[in-house]
Amino acid sequence: MISENLQKIRATLKPEVRLVAVSKFHPVEALQEAYNAGQRIFGENHVQELVAKEAVLPKDIEWHFIGHLQTNKVKYIAPFVSLIHSMDSLKLMKEIDKQGQKCGRAIDVLLQIHVAAEETKFGFTPEEVVQMLDEGGWRNYTHVRVVGLMAMATNTDNEAQIAQEFDIVQRLFYTLKADYFADKPEFKELSMGMSGDYLIAQAHGSTMVRVGSMIFGARNYNTTQWQQST
Ligand SMILES: *Cc1c(COP(=O)(O)O)cnc(C)c1O
Repeated sequence: MISENLQKIRATLKPEVRLVAVSKFHPVEALQEAYNAGQRIFGENHVQELVAKEAVLPKDIEWHFIGHLQTNKVKYIAPFVSLIHSMDSLKLMKEIDKQGQKCGRAIDVLLQIHVAAEETKFGFTPEEVVQMLDEGGWRNYTHVRVVGLMAMATNTDNEAQIAQEFDIVQRLFYTLKADYFADKPEFKELSMGMSGDYLIAQAHGSTMVRVGSMIFGARNYNTTQWQQST
């Protein structure tokens, strides 16, 4: 089932678009099944769950952190995380830099951009991210590598609205690339699109889609579910 879902989704993706399998709340058996079907990039949004899964699953998995990250938890994922999609404050960037330095590595991050209508979503507004980049302090954080932007669209059936939001982020990406990252070839990623809207995101330049339920089915939000063997 999982392998068929993966196949179906991959068949709709351009070859250059990477698929992040969002495995939060799913047990390691489900991740192993996706791994056996060739999936190597997994996305999680809770530190404890990510750390527990990383410890028992194959070492060639690329682990992406996609949820709101508290500064006091960065240290637990700093040694192995491949990409943090949800860098949403300068304070968090400072901590990622500190932990990256301790581990002797630069940690890749995306600047999370808030464009959705919902109040609850984290991230910089386009104005805030420009202000933050203008101020320039981020350039001192040499153990953080900013490789692009991440965004979520409003949770709605209105596809025109979703497309408009992704379009705003895509334009912002090109503007920021020209204004602040012209000398940084690594600034090339646009993480946009989930199960319900990844094709719209792909049409607006997404290089990385984060798909969960379409691969693994509905999530069981009983928080201990992922720890149990099924
Ligand atoms: C859960 C989650 C996803 C995946 O959502 P699905 O609708 O299950 O595909 C993608 N991105 C983020 C940030 C998430 O928290």
